[in-house]
Amino acid sequence: MTAAHLMKTYAPQPVAFARGEGAWLWDTEGRRYLDALSGIAVNGLGHAHPALVKAIADQAARLIHTSNLFRVPEQERLAERVCGLAGMDNAFFCNSGAEANECAIKIARLHGHQTGVQNPSIVVMEKAWHGRTLATLSATGSRKAQAGFEPLMGGFLRVPYNDLGAIERLSEHPSVVAILLEVLQGEGGIHVADLDYLRRLREICDRRQWLLMIDEVQSGIGRTGKWFAHQWAGIVPDVMPLAKGLGSGVPIGACLARGVAAQVFKPGNHGTTFGGGPLVSVAGLATLEAIEKEDLLGNAARQGEAIRRGLEAGLAGIAGVKEIRGKGLMIGIELDRPCGELVGRGLAAGLVINVTADTVVRLLPPLVFGDAESRELVDRLVPLLREFLAAPRAG
Ligand SMILES: *Cc1c(COP(=O)(O)O)cnc(C)c1O
Repeated sequence: MTAAHLMKTYAPQPVAFARGEGAWLWDTEGRRYLDALSGIAVNGLGHAHPALVKAIADQAARLIHTSNLFRVPEQERLAERVCGLAGMDNAFFCNSGAEANECAIKIARLHGHQTGVQNPSIVVMEKAWHGRTLATLSATGSRKAQAGFEPLMGGFLRVPYNDLGAIERLSEHPSVVAILLEVLQGEGGIHVADLDYLRRLREICDRRQWLLMIDEVQSGIGRTGKWFAHQWAGIVPDVMPLAKGLGSGVPIGACLARGVAAQVFKPGNHGTTFGGGPLVSVAGLATLEAIEKEDLLGNAARQGEAIRRGLEAGLAGIAGVKEIRGKGLMIGIELDRPCGELVGRGLAAGLVINVTADTVVRLLPPLVFGDAESRELVDRLVPLLREFLAAPRAG
């Protein structure tokens, strides 16, 4: 096994998984791991979910791809289904979260031009993550990710997250056409917006006729215990990028729109060769159906509570634990020091976890996590964190 012919965009752990079942993975040596990452919030149904496997296999045997030059009934069904869950009007399907955000950015700009704004700008957040294409990298609030790829794309105004005053100060800005933000910043370290902040953003957007664009790529499809995390605030966005959990592992993204935003594109304005093909669309349909049938929204909320309570109890009074944050099965434990090495230590303990923003342990377990698995996660993670924090600090 060698990675000599792969571009060095990742520094992967020296583990390869051979198969999975539910919340468990087995590596090529036959060792078993509890999966508290879900392929970065992708495998919501866990691994080898029978209904998903059957839907994909049956569709693959019928038809995999035809292109968007023809009607794709599976795509039309998925659009109807997902728009219904979100209270949105229509959807454009693509292949990744970055592409879903590209679509949102293009909708905002075209909407601006259609309403007479010459140089439309989009308000974006510090610590935001929207992808790695040039437009979405420019919208992303990570200097580390952007460095070396300048010139970045213009047309973004950056403000601190969860800071209403910063948005209000922009209110008279003539070029603003939209606000783009996450409800919970995932890559940025599991920062959670206040529900009242989100409601006020909705009001400001209504008043100023800006588009409220909520990136639910990571927080959507049940992860926080609602279909979409903004639903905790009782609001509806104008534009909503989706991806990660939508296809349970097949690459599918979507940009949903409502009202004026849903009428911006005309034929020729946007497109994709692969997007919304029959195979990925049935995976999306099977995902939504399983979440509903198995009450995985309720389960995500319950298991998330149990995990957070367990962590709070197990880590109470431990110096070095700054905060435990999150909603449902999107959980961050912020430490007082860089903790990337915990990923390798987790693997050694049979646990798949993630570290983001240098100092935040991120947990994104599959929505199918059971009571025993939530306990197991806490029981394996707490000693790891205690041991790590008890050691003298490196450097
Ligand atoms: C992961 C992520 C993206 C980018 O998705 P890709 O599929 O990696 O392009 C965009 N926005 C958010 C909130 C994400 O978490």
